[in-house]
Amino acid sequence: MQHPENDKAYKGLTVNEGIEQPSGVNPYFRRKARKRLLSVGEYVEGILKGDTTVLSQAVTLVESVRPEHQAVAQEVIEKCLPHSGKSIRVGISGVPGAGKSTSIDVFGLHVLEQYGGKLAVLAIDPSSERSKGSILGDKTRMEKLSVHPKSFIRPSPSAGSLGGVARKTRETIILCEAAGFDKIFVETVGVGQSETAVHSMVDFFLLIQLAGTGDELQGIKRGIMEMADGIVINKADGDNVDKARLAAAQFRNALHLFPKPESGWTPEVLTYSGFYNLGVKEIWDMVYRYVAFVKRNGYFEHRRNEQSKYWMYETINEHLRDSFYHNPLVASMLPGKEQQVLHGSLTSFVAARDLLDAYFRQLREKQ
Ligand code: GDP
Repeated sequence: MQHPENDKAYKGLTVNEGIEQPSGVNPYFRRKARKRLLSVGEYVEGILKGDTTVLSQAVTLVESVRPEHQAVAQEVIEKCLPHSGKSIRVGISGVPGAGKSTSIDVFGLHVLEQYGGKLAVLAIDPSSERSKGSILGDKTRMEKLSVHPKSFIRPSPSAGSLGGVARKTRETIILCEAAGFDKIFVETVGVGQSETAVHSMVDFFLLIQLAGTGDELQGIKRGIMEMADGIVINKADGDNVDKARLAAAQFRNALHLFPKPESGWTPEVLTYSGFYNLGVKEIWDMVYRYVAFVKRNGYFEHRRNEQSKYWMYETINEHLRDSFYHNPLVASMLPGKEQQVLHGSLTSFVAARDLLDAYFRQLREKQ
């Protein structure tokens, strides 16, 4: 290479030739052929055989936003549906630091040991959209369970709205059940809306709480407490035992003020220590007692039917929303309308109507 500085016009300055740089790309690297998508039949066959590799691949399809993936995924789900449903689904919620991962590790080992079968741990984490990747359900957080041959751990799907994320988790439950997983845990962060989503897909909703501040009841939203079928106070160990017991008593009192749940089951409040594995058996005795109770009185079936209905409407809503916001005309009009609303030159209602009118007009014209 000819350096301009080596020209005679430059005095007193020469630049040495550099050495040739090695290629930044490994010349021996060969791109692996892209993995072929399996056929619907192959997915279904693999799943029904309990092949977790095929199951993982199918879940990836469920989570994919590509229409061709979604088409295959929906067919796989439909074929798996008759083989699903035969499980106990438990939602586990608690604020970050409540001890969810420590507990799920211990809970999982306990139920596998005590009741046999296979366990899938899924998660719903609405924040994963922002942080691009969920921490919930992460294998590394559940050290023992992640290497257990009878467990399947899958982090939260990360793309889309909470409704979308939740729908994918619900579809994943179907695939896991078809693959023979008869125990499903769905984990979520105890911060609000995601509880409702989890509640709408599980048979038992377990709320993990901590004792400590003395006024813990204030921090927890009434709605979440009302959803709980069981409240468990974690970290009841060492100096914390008394505080945990006191908190449990407060929760019990608070629960008395709520109307009796539709299930006819009075939510129980227990204390335990996930870390020291104390009181874990009692929690699962309670969950199984609940399941026997609601299977006897018909509420188990009723809740599952209601959930199916809920998901039908959720899916419709999600598709309508997507169709609306992905419509190019709507997308092009939105920023302008938003500005007009912000500047007060248009009311929210008129702006919304303009957009909806434009959307529906276009739909009609397409027909
Ligand atoms: P997560 O954010 O809800 O998943 O909570 P983690 O399971 O990561 O636990 C948060 C912290 O609490 C960790 O430092 C754990 O070691 C600790 N921890 C979890 N369970 C217990 C328990 O039963 N007793 C005590 N003392 N500490 C615990």
